[in-house]
Amino acid sequence: MGIEFVQILPASGPRVPSDGAPAEQPRPATEAPETAENPAPTSGKLKTFYIETFGCQMNVHDSEKVAGTLIARGYRPVDNFEEADVVLYNTCSIREKAAQKVFSRLGTFKKGHRDNRKIIGVLGCVAQQEGDRFFERAPQVSLVCGSASYSKLPALLERLEAGNRRVTGLSLDTDECFETELTRRDNPFRAYVTIIEGCDKACSYCVVPMTRGPERSRASDKVLAECRRLVDAGYTEIQLLGQTVNSYKDPSPARLNFVELLTRVAEIPGVRRVRFTTSHPSDFTPEIVRALESDPVLCDHIHLPVQSGANPVLKRMLRTYTREGYLEKINCIHSAKRAISISTDIIVGFCGETEQDFEQTLSLLDVVQYDQIFSFKYSPRPNTAAGKWADDVPEEEKGTRLAILQDRQREIQFRRNQVLIGREFEVLVEGYQPRLQQAVGRTTGFAVW
Ligand code: SF4
Repeated sequence: MGIEFVQILPASGPRVPSDGAPAEQPRPATEAPETAENPAPTSGKLKTFYIETFGCQMNVHDSEKVAGTLIARGYRPVDNFEEADVVLYNTCSIREKAAQKVFSRLGTFKKGHRDNRKIIGVLGCVAQQEGDRFFERAPQVSLVCGSASYSKLPALLERLEAGNRRVTGLSLDTDECFETELTRRDNPFRAYVTIIEGCDKACSYCVVPMTRGPERSRASDKVLAECRRLVDAGYTEIQLLGQTVNSYKDPSPARLNFVELLTRVAEIPGVRRVRFTTSHPSDFTPEIVRALESDPVLCDHIHLPVQSGANPVLKRMLRTYTREGYLEKINCIHSAKRAISISTDIIVGFCGETEQDFEQTLSLLDVVQYDQIFSFKYSPRPNTAAGKWADDVPEEEKGTRLAILQDRQREIQFRRNQVLIGREFEVLVEGYQPRLQQAVGRTTGFAVW
């Protein structure tokens, strides 16, 4: 295939391979460097913790910060829940299946099997959504905390350590971001940096505004200082995160907009790649494309969730753009001076989606020629506007539409990948996939090799 595998290693060089990566992820080639950003576990008679994360990159990074908070309080991470004094589940409620997983995990600690010395905590979206009800459904739980209250975690832990049986952090009334002195990062090359938390949009199918609270941007000087520390610590790729990352509004006197912040991060000496996710189409501007064109450090990949290609569905989803408006943004990306790969999220079988609506989504795939799609069957979520509407596309039909959509995308991707044969790309090797017996990495366009 003429592909060059270039292993970009952190300045500290390779270390012992880690076996603790989730099964679906390639095994990291090295562990994360030990720095103030990524403190080494301290040995000795410390309390121990285990944290399992479900859901999106925001959750993964929140867990890294929660782990840093615990380590700063003298806790030591362990690889399995049996050994842990504190067991935390960072939950996701975007789909019902994800939400159910946490209750199945908690089943392990049911009466009779329960180790009474353990503190069991539930964090994230399901925690926020269920609130105090968690204690009724799962009496073994002592801590329930939503992401908007993570800055209160040290105080909540203190109360648990002082013998309180149940504590909660559920307020959404905050303008604070979760700042941590320490962050325990799992990936030795790519570092996540949250620049905006919460969401001010109101998509009718989505729980995030209810579970993560209103939008709060971090001050640009804090973001830039964190990025500089990461580069100094040897990280080569920085990924800026936010539920709507391009809605960033700098609260500091510098008042940087998203593109200015992005550009400043890319200018940090030593950084090799900068990514960002997830962009909302309504806040996507041509300036973002111009920035990518002019700075090769900014990766040539944009994730722009469309959800549906049909205007009536977009309207019911309250996505605040039309098919035509979305395609204008796509045309802008297509007309960039260098090729930028595009990925998206699509929901099939949303309330009232007709056969014609679905055909519109299929035709959008043909027009845009995505490099990758993440597609799902709609499932109603509690506390959402759409959760109260008739979920009127039968399950079987949703399954059929999903299969047709994925087949269409497979054909598109196959054709697009054919064009790449014989070309050379720089690949950041992220690990070794034992099943395939090969190294696995990504191009700057986010293609997996
Ligand atoms: S933009 Fe819409 S889908 Fe994305 S987090 Fe906000 S409400 Fe949810």
